[in-house]
Amino acid sequence: MARPWNFSAGPSAMPESVLRQAAAEMLDWRGSGMSVMEMSHRGKQFVEICSQAEADLRELLEVPEHYAVLFMQGGATAENAIIPLNLLGRAAQPKADFVISGIWAKKSLEECRRYGDAQVAATNAVETVIDGRTQGPSTWLPETSSWRVRPDAAYLHVCSNETIGGVETMAWPDMADLGAPDVPLVVDASSHFLSRPMPVAKTGMIFAGAQKNAGPAGLTVVIVRRDLIGHALAICPSAFDYANVAREKSMYNTPPTFAIYIAGLVFKWLKEQGGLAAIEQQNIAKATMLYNYFDQSRFYSVPVHPSVRSRMNVPFFLPDTALESAFLAGAEARGLMQLKGHKSVGGMRASIYNAMPLEGVVALIDYLKDFERSHG
Ligand SMILES: *Cc1c(COP(=O)(O)O)cnc(C)c1O
Repeated sequence: MARPWNFSAGPSAMPESVLRQAAAEMLDWRGSGMSVMEMSHRGKQFVEICSQAEADLRELLEVPEHYAVLFMQGGATAENAIIPLNLLGRAAQPKADFVISGIWAKKSLEECRRYGDAQVAATNAVETVIDGRTQGPSTWLPETSSWRVRPDAAYLHVCSNETIGGVETMAWPDMADLGAPDVPLVVDASSHFLSRPMPVAKTGMIFAGAQKNAGPAGLTVVIVRRDLIGHALAICPSAFDYANVAREKSMYNTPPTFAIYIAGLVFKWLKEQGGLAAIEQQNIAKATMLYNYFDQSRFYSVPVHPSVRSRMNVPFFLPDTALESAFLAGAEARGLMQLKGHKSVGGMRASIYNAMPLEGVVALIDYLKDFERSHG
């Protein structure tokens, strides 16, 4: 059976060669006679799998030595609580600032409010006009120069790729330029993690749920500057205290062993692709081709301002919502799956993560053309 083109926002398509390798090793990991999921997390074999995954991730992202890499659980949603529990204790007052770029950043802010004083540093939750073009809420980003960060905040949270809205930024500021040199930048990079090189050294921490671009659900990758570790609030669960997780090299309690193993295979696959600079070129080629098609079309429209369009998640609209069910049914008949947009935005969304080859985007564009011809 041919594999369909899976445009799901997450969990999402995996590199086929990774799935094949995992299948080949499923019953017997390299002569061990065991599946990785059967291994003790403290045994020699799994410890080796985990430390190799960490080493490959460090190499891919060029993670400096003074950052810890933690393999945790609970997804990015749990991390929204784990971060304030770990970082609010650093500041004299438990406060943190948030750049609202869409639904995920807003959820992060709301979760932080359970533990401290969370404030909005900047927001795109309103209409604006850019270059004469009216932009609806969540389809643009406020310039970094307009962010208002409290210099005594425990951290500033940004979401660098809004998976639902399709808004991406790499304008990660130097906090000194924002008048807040001591405030660490915390980045939710879940849905574009490993899609491009990332300036880790500009951040206090980066985190990502694996299921968008790095592996199976169940694993959260946290890269955190070591000086930010060790300030957890007393109410922080011990399994979520970065100090415990870092000291025990992600083995404070049983980590998601199989998910770590698969993510490790994805890291190896990325290295075979030529690393993050090479995968970035592929991602640029795919996204450019798709957005160029939409931009010349008078049938489809893309809500997001061209300057901040995500290379990973591409929301688009048909001219009439009445056409949506026919569009989706026709797409599925051609093996183009999961194109329905998030319910909060409506319309359609194509997620084209690392594992989506150019061929899949070409197949999507072929279908878009045919549908436009027959319904335009
Ligand atoms: C998917 C996603 C989340 C939530 O992830 P869960 O693993 O479902 O908790 C948070 N932030 C971003 C940017 C996401 O894409």
